[in-house]
Amino acid sequence: MEIKKVVVIGSGTMGSGIAAHLCNANIPVTLLDLKTEISEKARDRIFKSRPPLLIDKSKINNINIGNINDDFNLVKDADWIVEAVVERIDIKHNIYEKIFKTRKSGAIVSSNTSSIPIKVLSKNLSEDEKKDFCITHFFNPVRYMGLLEIVKNENNDLEKINSLKKFCEIELGKGVIICNDTPGFLGNRVGVYAMQIAMNEAFRMKLSIEEADAVFGRPMGIPKTGVFGLYDLIGIDLMADVLKSFIKELPENDEFQIVAKEIPLIKKLIETGYTGRKGKGGFYRINKTEGKKILEAINLDTGEYFPTKKIDLKLDKVDLKNLINRKDKYGEYAWSVLSKIIKYASSLVPGITDKFNNIDEAMRLGFNWTKGPFEMLKEIGVKNFFERIDDFKNNKFLENLSKSKDENFYGERQLYTNIETLGKIKPKAIKVDKNNSAEIYRFENFNIVEFNTKANTLDYDSMDCLKKATDKPLIIINESMQFSAGVNLSYTMDFADKGDFKSIEKFIKYFQETCKHLKYSKHPVISAPSGLALGGGEEVILQSNFVVSHTNIVMGLVETIVGLVPAGGGCKEVLWRWCQSDEAKNDPDFAPLKVFDIIGYAKTATSPVEAEPLKYLRPEDKKIMNRNSLLAVSKKILDDNKDFKAPEECKFNLSGKLLKEKMIKVLEKLYNEKVILDHGVEVGKELANVLSGGDTTIDKTLSEDDLYKLELDSFMRLIKTKKTQDRIKHTLVTGKPLIN
Ligand code: NAD
Repeated sequence: MEIKKVVVIGSGTMGSGIAAHLCNANIPVTLLDLKTEISEKARDRIFKSRPPLLIDKSKINNINIGNINDDFNLVKDADWIVEAVVERIDIKHNIYEKIFKTRKSGAIVSSNTSSIPIKVLSKNLSEDEKKDFCITHFFNPVRYMGLLEIVKNENNDLEKINSLKKFCEIELGKGVIICNDTPGFLGNRVGVYAMQIAMNEAFRMKLSIEEADAVFGRPMGIPKTGVFGLYDLIGIDLMADVLKSFIKELPENDEFQIVAKEIPLIKKLIETGYTGRKGKGGFYRINKTEGKKILEAINLDTGEYFPTKKIDLKLDKVDLKNLINRKDKYGEYAWSVLSKIIKYASSLVPGITDKFNNIDEAMRLGFNWTKGPFEMLKEIGVKNFFERIDDFKNNKFLENLSKSKDENFYGERQLYTNIETLGKIKPKAIKVDKNNSAEIYRFENFNIVEFNTKANTLDYDSMDCLKKATDKPLIIINESMQFSAGVNLSYTMDFADKGDFKSIEKFIKYFQETCKHLKYSKHPVISAPSGLALGGGEEVILQSNFVVSHTNIVMGLVETIVGLVPAGGGCKEVLWRWCQSDEAKNDPDFAPLKVFDIIGYAKTATSPVEAEPLKYLRPEDKKIMNRNSLLAVSKKILDDNKDFKAPEECKFNLSGKLLKEKMIKVLEKLYNEKVILDHGVEVGKELANVLSGGDTTIDKTLSEDDLYKLELDSFMRLIKTKKTQDRIKHTLVTGKPLIN
């Protein structure tokens, strides 16, 4: 079975997201709704969405639109028809009747329902029709969430389900988990329970919402929105609907029933329009007073808002053992929440899946947790867990484990896919070296470096691992969300605050030395980024010999935003790439001026399609839809390049002073137009100095080391200025740029 054309019915949040993602996979797709105007609006929304649902916005018109009255005959040509209309069984049944009358024989029909059992959905279908009907449950936003749950019915043609799975895995890049027909399937059943427990326990233990989010967040390997932030993001009203449906669908004695009970404060928030970020605010809100925006948090007792308080648990890594052993309310809360999640998730095995591993992977892919409940149990330790847990009656999984006390109960990871993933090979690889910021693994005949700091920011230790790992072919890849958000600015500012600029210089020099080493060592180096690849992260990529990029990347040299210039070879490498362009052959200033514009404006790309015209990526760099495949594709490159030879060093002929003057003219214009302020000019002048080659003339040839030196000098001059330090501090505190 081949899927060459798809029709999506219902152009709301999910239908439009699914259509956009099919468009990302170059599959012709038609989006139908009640009226063409509704689908048209949806297409508009796709175009303007942020983060963008489309990898390549210029393809927007490949999404065909129409309405279910005039254009239903398009269903005839489709190999797959996805229903994503409102969650109402009567409406869905009507649509199926129409679809099955019109579709070509054998075409797959699926529903995106999040809560209606397949038994109920397919009630009116004939045995033959049931063969081709299943649930394909995508997560929002479709482009970015890795999980797709497929629910079969007992009549399904298994071969067909498998080829749909394969299509969704390879073409759409999803982690596809086949689930039983149980309420909420895997992801939502455990994920929503976890949210409810985190919320209920915060009420019970009288934690503030900032405190709860600080614990049920990064220290547990859960996204920093925590529970209350996530509630606001999803929509408090939508969450209430989800809970109602769970209450309706689940048996009375299911633990979920207790945690899903309506909370008076939530009822009040919804009634008063505080439905979260899309409404007037939610558990958090932005209060604008005297022209200032202040983030406020609700007091769970009184319902009043107060300015948020930052909670620092002094934990920058996931460390569950330490967290649950803390002798304070945070430790107690963490244990209470974690143990209940583990208890609930394990009570669902084998009812919702016979492979507990699937629950963990669903939590990773659908909720962006770094570990699922069973991996958490493994990390806490079986013995520790049973020493502390009270009762686990009627929980077969825990009863068995309490008897076997098998610390190695876990077995393999990512059983849902046949792809050789990083997650699968890591446990089999040899751990070669490890420090605070990164780890080196050896697998077969190559090394892997995985960064492991917050957002994978880079410091001296990260560079140390990279450098050491070049004794073999190297793949730089990681499982966490981001490849790297750039150099660790707090680390840099700690030195700057002490006036220890020597240490900063030492670090930047080592950064440069490492990047040079990556590029010219005798073994090939491959970067396999996904997520953020910014600043220093992008410099590592630029100086790797090969790149295998996930299609969901955000890539760019953004240093000027914090008042710096790229100094790990970023200016040099992008300049070199532009120097190879046809235009540069006729005009020696073309490439530096182009790069001045790109780095000066800190241009970022939100996909490889946007990264290539900026030359952050090259045409030959691989662009991959399925994140799980990054390792396998990288391995293939190593296999295909057994006779790899390091590239020749690049050389530059730049115009120096004359070119710098041209760039300064650009800065003056921007200053007069108030696009940039005083310090913007200073940063721009330093960038101009690097890209013009400094004190040089066109007939002099500069080496890469000359360019590295110019980058370093400019970086050091800028980091010593108060205004750059102000920018960095502002970004660290607010996450936003400071224009000064
Ligand atoms: P939505 O309300 O955003 O969109 C529903 C769309 O269906 C609307 O555009 C509406 O005009 C259209 N519609 C209604 N009746 C129709 C009909 N007879 N023919 C054609 N179109 C019709 O809803 P949504 O959030 O996109 O949810 C769609 C489905 O996906 C639901 O089954 C929901 O449970 C499920 N789901 C939602 C999410 C989520 O996060 N929103 C996640 C996973 C699954």
